[in-house]
Amino acid sequence: MENLIENGTFISQVERPNSSLPTVIVIGGGISGLAAARRLHDASFKVILLESRDRLGGRIHTDHSFGYPVDLGASWLHGVCNENPLAPLIRGLGLKLYRTSGDNSVLYDHDLESYTLFDKEGHKIPQQMVIEVGDAFKRILDETEKVRDEHTDDMSVLQAIWIVLDRHPELRQEGLAYEVLQWYICRMEAWFAADADMISLKSWDQEQVLSGGHGLMVQGYDPIIKALAKDIDIRLNHRVAKISNGPNKVMVTVEDGTGFIADAAIITVPLGILKANLIHFEPKLPQWKVDAISDLGFGSENKIAMQFDRVFWPDVELLGVVAPTSYACGYFLNLHKATGHPVLVYMAAGRFACDLEKLSDESAANFVMLQLKKMFPNATEPVQYLVTRWGTDPNSLGCYSYDLVGKPGDSYERLRAPLGNLFFGGEAVSMEDHQGSVHGAYSAGIMAAENCQGHILERLGYFDKLQLVPSRGEIHDAAFPLQISRM
Ligand SMILES: Cc1cc2nc3c(=O)[nH]c(=O)nc-3n(C[C@H](O)[C@H](O)[C@H](O)COP(=O)(O)OP(=O)(O)OC[C@H]3O[C@@H](n4cnc5c(N)ncnc54)[C@H](O)[C@@H]3O)c2cc1C
Repeated sequence: MENLIENGTFISQVERPNSSLPTVIVIGGGISGLAAARRLHDASFKVILLESRDRLGGRIHTDHSFGYPVDLGASWLHGVCNENPLAPLIRGLGLKLYRTSGDNSVLYDHDLESYTLFDKEGHKIPQQMVIEVGDAFKRILDETEKVRDEHTDDMSVLQAIWIVLDRHPELRQEGLAYEVLQWYICRMEAWFAADADMISLKSWDQEQVLSGGHGLMVQGYDPIIKALAKDIDIRLNHRVAKISNGPNKVMVTVEDGTGFIADAAIITVPLGILKANLIHFEPKLPQWKVDAISDLGFGSENKIAMQFDRVFWPDVELLGVVAPTSYACGYFLNLHKATGHPVLVYMAAGRFACDLEKLSDESAANFVMLQLKKMFPNATEPVQYLVTRWGTDPNSLGCYSYDLVGKPGDSYERLRAPLGNLFFGGEAVSMEDHQGSVHGAYSAGIMAAENCQGHILERLGYFDKLQLVPSRGEIHDAAFPLQISRM
């Protein structure tokens, strides 16, 4: 440790890794940063991971206060198949999945057996109506493709839906059916974590969805985080405030003034942190990078997890509440189906999720209980509840990225492009349109690590000297199949 003045700023202590190995600082201890750190550690680099929170996992947050795991951030594996980059880890750790929807689907493609909808007064909506409106919604979405083809300029998905309804009176819905249509829009908004008037018509259906449907991680996502973190030099409560990118070295300074010097750094903080300029870059980020950061959307989603003393709801996966606007619709994930525990998770996305954050925990729980009591007059009070605030949490400032209306085609490429010794990982830079997912964030971390590794080895002329050590096999045992219930 030593003191130093750098560009007029006093750096209280500097840590120079006492190592002849190439050194990399990874910023952010979510799945992307951990994947990057793991890959470089296994390739014999000296790695230090700096994480602002007092825990690892970032937007993966498996809480145990109910006495069993409940995921307050990511909970689904999108793409229950061997091609999923997380499959070897999940198999190796023997983690169980509970599949909630089928092959090549997005989550708002519902498996019609799996949910029940209610109106605001708590009356059950006939399943036939739910099915018919669901079919109409699919046809409306198909028709929006024609709208897209006709317009060179982008518009929102909602605007396109209105154009379709204008042209096709037979697809318009009235009364209760209109409210059911709003509920389908609400579910679509949950996938993007943004309101339909913000989502780009040009891009919304361009993502590559992995096969195998969607599986809830029955034991939570946490075991994957723990496995990746093993033996890594991790510094919790280290909030990075400044990154100075020199020709041969990078200096990363945390809030208390401690500086870390390395050959390169990998930045995996959420897009919300970059948007809010919470990290000072020296030299400043080039305008094309700043534009990429602002051109992408960063959505909001929150969960209210409620533990009850007994199950008083039907044996379905989702309980939905319809309303005259998608904003006012809502739904509960029934964790009892997947885990056997009496837990309902209320999920809110977009503007509604932001508004929920303004309520106290108690008011948020009361709001949810009012809905439940209408649906189930015999509902008991929750034993415990947990309320998330991903949008105002200074470590995330949102939940995941999405394509804003008018997003330039190359925004993701610019966001992921390295700058000298700085490499960018994290969910938002993921390739093949896997943004917003855990597996996308994981792959983005691996990709950033590989690019960083190549860059350093080339610069230091190390190619022949440093042998890459294959990853240690204990968590990558591919001999077991994925363990899936509800096929
Ligand atoms: C409510 C919710 C539900 C979701 N559901 C799913 C789902 O079901 N399936 C799915 O695949 N994906 C889901 N996602 C998305 C998924 O969680 C993310 O895409 C993924 O976890 C992002 O990982 P990451 O490593 O890129 O970012 P993060 O996990 O956010 O990691 C970044 C880390 O950087 C840290 N950090 C921030 N600022 C600083 C700083 N200045 N210095 C140091 N460290 C800093 C943060 O604390 C954080 O730990 C969900 C997300 C949310 C919020």
